Amino acid sequence: MQALVLEKVGKLSLRDIEIEESLGPRDVKIKIHTVGICGSDVHYFQNGRIGPFVVKAPMVLGHEASGAILEAGPEVKHLKAGDRVCMEPGIPDPNSKATRLGMYNLDPAVRFWATPPVHGCLRETVIHPADFTFKLPENVSFGEGAMVEPLAIGMHAATKAAIQPGDLAVVLGAGTIGAVTALAALAGGCSRIVITDVKQAKLDLVSGLGPILPVNVTRGNVADVVREMTDGWGADIVFECSGSEKAITKVFELLRPGGRVVLVGMPGELPKFDVVAAQTKEARIETIFRYAHVYDRALTLMGSGKIDLKPFITDTFAFADSIQAFDWAVNMPETSVKGQIEMPE
Ligand SMILES: [Zn+2]
Repeated sequence: MQALVLEKVGKLSLRDIEIEESLGPRDVKIKIHTVGICGSDVHYFQNGRIGPFVVKAPMVLGHEASGAILEAGPEVKHLKAGDRVCMEPGIPDPNSKATRLGMYNLDPAVRFWATPPVHGCLRETVIHPADFTFKLPENVSFGEGAMVEPLAIGMHAATKAAIQPGDLAVVLGAGTIGAVTALAALAGGCSRIVITDVKQAKLDLVSGLGPILPVNVTRGNVADVVREMTDGWGADIVFECSGSEKAITKVFELLRPGGRVVLVGMPGELPKFDVVAAQTKEARIETIFRYAHVYDRALTLMGSGKIDLKPFITDTFAFADSIQAFDWAVNMPETSVKGQIEMPE
């Protein structure tokens, strides 16, 4: 089948590739419709590795996908041919210790699309476990369906934050993940969000989507803003989505006593971490890695209209232009958020 293949660092090709997949009794075969371009795809394209994961052989990119069912295995009850769906890209071992404890995202044996050596989904069809395939509500488009993957990260962060109704949250970083975390936190009960970034266009977009106050950190000080809003008490929750060392080092400045910090962004360098600042507020610190058990909830929120991801889909490319789409993504304009690739009908 035709696929977008990362041959090696910096070299993509659109070509035929043979992928061995057979339809098991609990699997579905899906015709891919839309695939989002993720920062990790671009990172593999440019650097050939992310941490311990190294591209050693040609690999199909893409993990944010939606499509339509072509065929369902005989034991699949909740899906049938023609259903519009999106898919969780990580498939754990159902019998692993992590999976049995409910943390299947942490299963060391998880097979995740476009994480070497596993092929991604920028191709005509995939075979996928039905248990990790979710029907789209009627009012959710294929494009929005392919946005559920990044939203799932925000949903998992909001879940880990144990939001109480009315909480004030700060979100550091207004890229795709920061923006969807802000929406998930509002849907989860936060009364308002303060969001920061250095790029004004990102702040302009997200601040129009709810009670979200933008702070451009090149011009303003977010700690002052939070102090003023809370009479010096601090925010109930801080979601660190920037991965910036500077932001991580000062994260506790923003927090109220007994507040919660959720570390979402992945810093490139080992950041300084102010232990005493955390201790004097008895800060609770949570971390997340991908997500678990949130796809169905994300889709319910999108179906009910509580979360609208359409404003984030800023650029759409045809599959035939996939290579140009990746060149675009490497130097993505500030006004763009998510680029997606649509497969031919
Ligand atoms: Zn992604």
